[in-house]
Amino acid sequence: MRPGSGLAVECGQTGRVIRTHAAIVLKAVPYAEGGAVVSFVSEHGERLTGVAKGVKKPTSKWVAAFEPMSMVRVSFFGKEQAELKRVTRCELAFSPLTLGHLESSLVMACLADLFDRVAREGIEDDRLYRLLSACGRALKADPDNALGILAYAEHWLLHCMGLLPHPRACGRCGNEAAPLALLSPDEGWCCLTCTPVDPAEALPPGSREYLRRLRAGGAEVAPKGDPADAAQRAVTALLRARLLQELGGRLRSYEVLWRTV
Ligand SMILES: [Zn+2]
Repeated sequence: MRPGSGLAVECGQTGRVIRTHAAIVLKAVPYAEGGAVVSFVSEHGERLTGVAKGVKKPTSKWVAAFEPMSMVRVSFFGKEQAELKRVTRCELAFSPLTLGHLESSLVMACLADLFDRVAREGIEDDRLYRLLSACGRALKADPDNALGILAYAEHWLLHCMGLLPHPRACGRCGNEAAPLALLSPDEGWCCLTCTPVDPAEALPPGSREYLRRLRAGGAEVAPKGDPADAAQRAVTALLRARLLQELGGRLRSYEVLWRTV
């Protein structure tokens, strides 16, 4: 942890500073008089929040800068240890938004929701920033694979949270070749050789291979969502349920996504 990283400029003798960060916008929650409380994940992977005051004539640039997943340079003004600092500038550097692509926009809201819960104030984990920025760039390049990119992000978030064992070997018997049967909270991925399960409840054939594909490449080559791929469907549902359980249950952004796609 490095408290208050980012470029700082002292302002007079009051202990107030302006600190500028490269960051990704997570959520903007409306606040008094047309303003918003905006959360970000900094390039060091720390959650930051600030109040963006309502501006008299909001420019499209100012508004676009607070869209979820916008990559920005944001400046905060306030005392170093103050509860809530003020956002004084927010310049859009890159937007993953593809206008008119609903599925991609809804997935961006889900990703912002997830990272808003996983990133922590005062705790840096730069893997979070790298993962979210990679997903943003992948969404811009291939918005049609939004659901594949969401599944990719969920997998790596679980990994970052220390909740996803490596699928190389069975966590119970060490077998590296047998098909996977299930994910156990205590022993990780367990194989069919040592773990007898009802075939109807076992993970479908190909689950280990799908996990390997997720691990092998970056977000830009995230496996395409394929409804006919039973292994992909089962693993995605399993990891998603695990992640949402860890984050305290249902997320509104997910409910909107499932109502729509
Ligand atoms: Zn085994």
